[in-house]
Amino acid sequence: MPGKEEKTAGQKLAERLTRKAPNAWERLRGEGHQVAMQFAEGYKEFLDAAKTEREAVTAVVAAAVEAGFRPLGELPPGGLAAGSKFYYVNRGKAVVLGVVGVEPLASGFKLVGAHLDVPRLDLKPNPLYESEGLALLKTHYYGGIKKYQWTSIPLALHGVVIKGDGERLELTIGEAEDDPVFTISDLLPHLAKDQMQKKLGEAIAGEELNLLAGSIPYDDEEVKEKVKLRVLEYLHQRYGLVEEDFTSAELEVVPAGRSRDIGFDRGLVGGYGQDDRVCSYTALRAILDLQQARHTALILLADKEEIGSTGNTGMQSRFLEYVVLELAGLAGPGGSVDPGRVLFNSRALSADVNAAMDPNHDGVMEKHNAARLGGGVVLTKYTGSGGKYHSNDANAEFVAEVRRLFNTTGIAWQVGELGKVDQGGGGTIAQYLANLGMDVVDCGPALLSMHAPFEVASKVDIYTTYQAYRAFLEA
Ligand code: MN
Ligand code: MN
Repeated sequence: MPGKEEKTAGQKLAERLTRKAPNAWERLRGEGHQVAMQFAEGYKEFLDAAKTEREAVTAVVAAAVEAGFRPLGELPPGGLAAGSKFYYVNRGKAVVLGVVGVEPLASGFKLVGAHLDVPRLDLKPNPLYESEGLALLKTHYYGGIKKYQWTSIPLALHGVVIKGDGERLELTIGEAEDDPVFTISDLLPHLAKDQMQKKLGEAIAGEELNLLAGSIPYDDEEVKEKVKLRVLEYLHQRYGLVEEDFTSAELEVVPAGRSRDIGFDRGLVGGYGQDDRVCSYTALRAILDLQQARHTALILLADKEEIGSTGNTGMQSRFLEYVVLELAGLAGPGGSVDPGRVLFNSRALSADVNAAMDPNHDGVMEKHNAARLGGGVVLTKYTGSGGKYHSNDANAEFVAEVRRLFNTTGIAWQVGELGKVDQGGGGTIAQYLANLGMDVVDCGPALLSMHAPFEVASKVDIYTTYQAYRAFLEA
């Protein structure tokens, strides 16, 4: 019989052959905890400053400029010096940051690609109306939301209005301490007998997501819609707006208020928009902190992922190809570089979140392949649904390369799959990066309550994700 201290042959064999998913807190230990906690402070500031894709681009560019990045168009022609830092903004909603590598561009670049858009409620083009003595704003939801989660909470209005004469107005109402907020009313339980019988997905209809926006009538007996007119009067006096200006506006309704620490030990971050600003922020920090880039390092923060990566700011557009074309034009002297070849030789992490095992709803997860909060960064070989449909399904060779990198650099990582096979599914920008010829795998932290007004991430996973992106860009 072996002593208590001594391991049995079976124990030793199990240690050698089986993989035990790490707990990233245990991996970091001591001072590492402080570093992860501190990192989350900057992350929360970013979440609070950047609640729309436009605000996120503004925040990203400000940080990039401060770190010495210059507009791509200002790089000198004829030479991309190693270490040159540049950025390129697409219509204020998507952005690429880059650091020129030592290796020639033709050998491919390293990319971390995330998205800046978040599920929300958009104001309709003709949103303002009056009903029952109240002024309301009609919305059309954007992305995959559970509609009932958006009622009875304080909401803020963020966005941009382009007036009839072309003047641009940026708005944020509902975030300052003394700002008013907006809200969507829900039925009292006393009168919800019929509503409570409905399926959860049908309990609140899309056309019921109307925002309370005013309640005091304009003082004139001859006017029909007095409350609406008073709101219009306020908007005109305060911002110079008329009703038609809503037609050329992008006003987004988002949860009001700041991100917060969660739990007695403050190990989690709660806040709006962490899918996918957690990957956007960690990618940003990774490229800002890059010591050296062997291959040219890029981060791409895209728009419209939540509605299928559509539009000219989404990942299905030619934006990245265009940036590579511009880079190839600068890549001389002595050689023309084919942008198509550059893309085909490139490698990418599709930086997006996965679902964390939820102790309240563990039935939808397959426990052997589910990610856990605190388990480190998640490698997701494939997403998709109904039999891997619309999934990138990363090549084993590339997954091996990334896995080896994380193992040799001591980065805590875990695998993840988005729920049980027949339960549903989802997609990321991975498939669109792969369409360009790149090797790509999904990689990012796991979240609880994904797409809810208040999502949850682990501080140690956030920090580990930053480490992972940085190691990938540096290698
Ligand atoms: Mn996402
Ligand atoms: Mn999403």
